[in-house]
Amino acid sequence: MSAPVGVLALQGNVPEHLDALRACGAEAVPVRRPSELAEVAGLVLPGGESTTLSKLLEAVELLEPLRERLRAGMPAFGSCAGMILLAREAIDARPDQHQLGALDITVRRNAFGRQVASFESDLTVTGVAGGPVRAVFIRAPWVETTGRGVEVLARVPGSVAGPAAGKVVAVRQGPVMATAFHPEQTGDARLHDLFLRRVRDSVATG
Ligand code: GLN
Repeated sequence: MSAPVGVLALQGNVPEHLDALRACGAEAVPVRRPSELAEVAGLVLPGGESTTLSKLLEAVELLEPLRERLRAGMPAFGSCAGMILLAREAIDARPDQHQLGALDITVRRNAFGRQVASFESDLTVTGVAGGPVRAVFIRAPWVETTGRGVEVLARVPGSVAGPAAGKVVAVRQGPVMATAFHPEQTGDARLHDLFLRRVRDSVATG
C-alpha cells in the first residue's frame, strides 16, 4: 500500500485505532483536515459521540469532502459513533445530525439502553478467522434494518438475555464496514486487518 490509512482524529479513541492499524503493518495517520483526508487510501471513523462528531466534521469543513470520498469508493471502517455517522439513517438521533449515508442501514442510537453503559459478548464475525471476537459495546447502537447490498458480518448471539439477542452489530457494504462495538479496545486487531484487506483490494483495483 503506498498511501497511508487515516483515522478521523476529531474525538474518540484515535491513538488506539492508530496502534491497531500499525500493529497490522499499515502506515496510519490522523486526519483532521481536508488536505489530510485527500492523502489517505482509507479512513477509520472511531467511536465517540455522533452528534458532536457530526458538528466537528462540519466545523473543520470535512463533511462534504468526506461524503465525496465515500461516494467515490474510499474504504471506510466506522466503530460505534462511526457506524452511526456512516449509516443512511439514525433513529433517536438529533434531527440536525448529519448522516454520511455510505451504508444502507438504519441504526438505533444507544440501543442497548441508556442505563446499560457497556455490554460485552463473544461474536463470530464473517471474514475473521481464528475464533470469536470479544466485542465491547459502550452506549452502542445496533442495526435495525439493512438494505439489499449490505452484508451482515455479526450478530449478538441469540443466547444473550434481553432485546439485544440476535441484533446485527457488524456490517459491510462494498468497501465500507462498521461495527457497533470497539475493536480498538481489546488488543485484537483482526477487524482492522479485515479493513486493511479492503483497502488493499481497492488500491489494487484502482
Ligand atoms: N452513544 C454514542 C452516540 O450516539 C456512541 C457511543 C460510542 O461511540 N461509544 O454517538
